[in-house]
Amino acid sequence: MRPAILNPLFATATTLTGVGPRIAQAIAKIAGEKVVDLCWHLPIGMIDRRFAPKVADAPPGAVATLTVQVLEHMPPRIPRLPYRVLCSDDTAEIELVFFHAKGDYLQKTLPTGQERIISGKVEHYQGRIQMTHPDLIAGPEEADDVIGVEPVYPLTAGLNPRPLRRAIKGALERAPELEEWQDAAWIEKQGWRDWRDSLLAAHGIESEQDLDPSAPARARLAYDELLADQLALAMVRASQRKRSGRAISGDGVLTEKAIAALPFTLTPSQIEALSEIAADMASPLRMLRMLQGDVGSGKTVVAFLAIVKAVEAGAQGAIMAPTEVLARQHFATIEPLANAIGLRTALLTGRDKGKARTEIINGLISGDIQIAVGTHALFQDDVAFHDLALAVIDEQHRFGVHQRLMLTSKGQAADMLVMTATPIPRTLMLCAYSDLDSSRLTDKPAGRKPVETRVLPLSRIEDVVNRLESAISGGARIFWVCPLVDESEALDLAAATDRHSALDRRFPGRIGLVHGKMRAAEKDRAMAAFSAGETDILVATTVIEVGVDVPEATVMVVEHAERFGLAQLHQLRGRVGRGEKASSCLLLYAPPLTQTAEARLKILRETEDGFRIAEEDLRLRGAGELLGTRQSGLPSYRLADLAAHQELMMAARDDVRLILDRDPELKSKRGQALRVLLYLFEKDSLVPTLRSG
Ligand code: ADP
Ligand code: MG
Repeated sequence: MRPAILNPLFATATTLTGVGPRIAQAIAKIAGEKVVDLCWHLPIGMIDRRFAPKVADAPPGAVATLTVQVLEHMPPRIPRLPYRVLCSDDTAEIELVFFHAKGDYLQKTLPTGQERIISGKVEHYQGRIQMTHPDLIAGPEEADDVIGVEPVYPLTAGLNPRPLRRAIKGALERAPELEEWQDAAWIEKQGWRDWRDSLLAAHGIESEQDLDPSAPARARLAYDELLADQLALAMVRASQRKRSGRAISGDGVLTEKAIAALPFTLTPSQIEALSEIAADMASPLRMLRMLQGDVGSGKTVVAFLAIVKAVEAGAQGAIMAPTEVLARQHFATIEPLANAIGLRTALLTGRDKGKARTEIINGLISGDIQIAVGTHALFQDDVAFHDLALAVIDEQHRFGVHQRLMLTSKGQAADMLVMTATPIPRTLMLCAYSDLDSSRLTDKPAGRKPVETRVLPLSRIEDVVNRLESAISGGARIFWVCPLVDESEALDLAAATDRHSALDRRFPGRIGLVHGKMRAAEKDRAMAAFSAGETDILVATTVIEVGVDVPEATVMVVEHAERFGLAQLHQLRGRVGRGEKASSCLLLYAPPLTQTAEARLKILRETEDGFRIAEEDLRLRGAGELLGTRQSGLPSYRLADLAAHQELMMAARDDVRLILDRDPELKSKRGQALRVLLYLFEKDSLVPTLRSG
């Protein structure tokens, strides 16, 4: 149960004065539906309205807040001309100028003979002092509110700054005094104030410095969020481990047979990862391990060998992928390897229905099928296993912590291995994924050729197409990735179909197309045609990013590469260079490049090391270019900034360790306060033990 003291913060925003359903809808879009979401909606800028001179002393160009008397309304004689309102104080007159104005509205807000406070940019025009469209008009009783620093908040369509500021003010009034959950010595060392004061200060900015992520109020709030996040993860992990107590190990014979049957030798990091996994499985604690490695680094093979270990111990294993295409690919990799040592593998996706599906499920229940590969379909209620001991989840970031928990619930304390092709920087791994151990595949399988990466302006697109012509006649297979257009899928789609038809005119019948809006069967067909060489160029939105294996593909073209995140581009490039032939990656950009975009492209030219790229990515993110983060798999925070708050992240991690060492049930006074923190950041649903305590 959420502590009652937090209830006012968890009411809907509509309970705030001045927030009707329409404004609430806009607020929900940009901040969230609850009052607390408005508290977390921090300013991104400020307007200083403290300068409040006499009219005669207000210099042109300055933002000034003036207290004036309304003298006279002067509606325009012809509609195209502006509406003017003459005002004055005891030093000079000033004209307020409004274009396309509604006279009755102005009469109401600026009644003749009354005093008003106006704020905006002062202009001198033909010897007169004027102000065009004041930012603000208020009554004299609002002086304290208005003559100060005005925070600027992120907005969205249908939401004006003033009602939003008023809503946030109302939300902040609901913020209660809470017991301190941070360590007293730490708080003092940082020079931070308590939670409520910090929240108020983060909104009540007085200078540009207050907007910096390192400003005390912001840093404190960020730390609170990080602490809540990491504490919740650590508690999930502790409770999962407690629930296990099963050691999986066999005599090693089957594993040896499987390794001997591989058509290649394992790389050193594959061997190392496998032994880390085997040790986890053999221990009575539940394994929660992440296997990181670039696309093609051989994760699936490691996962297969881990499953063989489970089978060797008399149990079963499952691999779950986020998409049908990927599930099929895993199946294609694994089935022959499994067949070679006499194991049965089944593929279960949403497309399997009726009798075929029933047969697979029966095989899993009886244990005749030892290995299951599939999509979310593996989650369904009627899917059960004889004895699932290892669940492998591919592409971790597409699934949340909740889903991770769900698949393991299908087994008797099943061990869990999470695979991801997004290399995660070390600090982040230690903190944001602190519920997981990790193994890294750092070396590429032998025989992989480096990919030649070239960066070209979009104006050279004709040259590129000409080059492709000769590549195609030499038998090359080409991926062509279309621009990410804003956040709109419809526009992404249009860009891809346009490119498809343009290329199709040049190479009739040789161009395939895959995009997110296609049905699974259509996508498979397009992929299969490309794989089989029936098409030479596959035009795609980023759907292929998720992992598609066509070893014959040797060229990757990315249009508008500047719009993609570093991690994304790296993943896209990973689609080529997988076969025998030399490969290249052409990154086409629209000039002028921003500094960060330029830095990103430069790094890609310099290195193919995914882990180094991940570190650089995190560093560059500080520059605030966030497009592509959503897809990058990094966790997103409301208050903490991945790049700016790395040290706080590490500190929170150490803090969580100490907390749980001393008070694993959160029973002490500080423990109780920390429970409130978990509810404040809505981590309670993650922590199964929280309710009982
Ligand atoms: P990932 O899952 O990391 O993308 P896979 O396990 O699917 O990579 O491996 C990619 C390809 O490389 C597969 O065709 C696989 O058979 C092959 N492969 C894996 N490990 C090795 C290795 N050690 N040497 C050579 N080829 C390998
Ligand atoms: Mg893979």
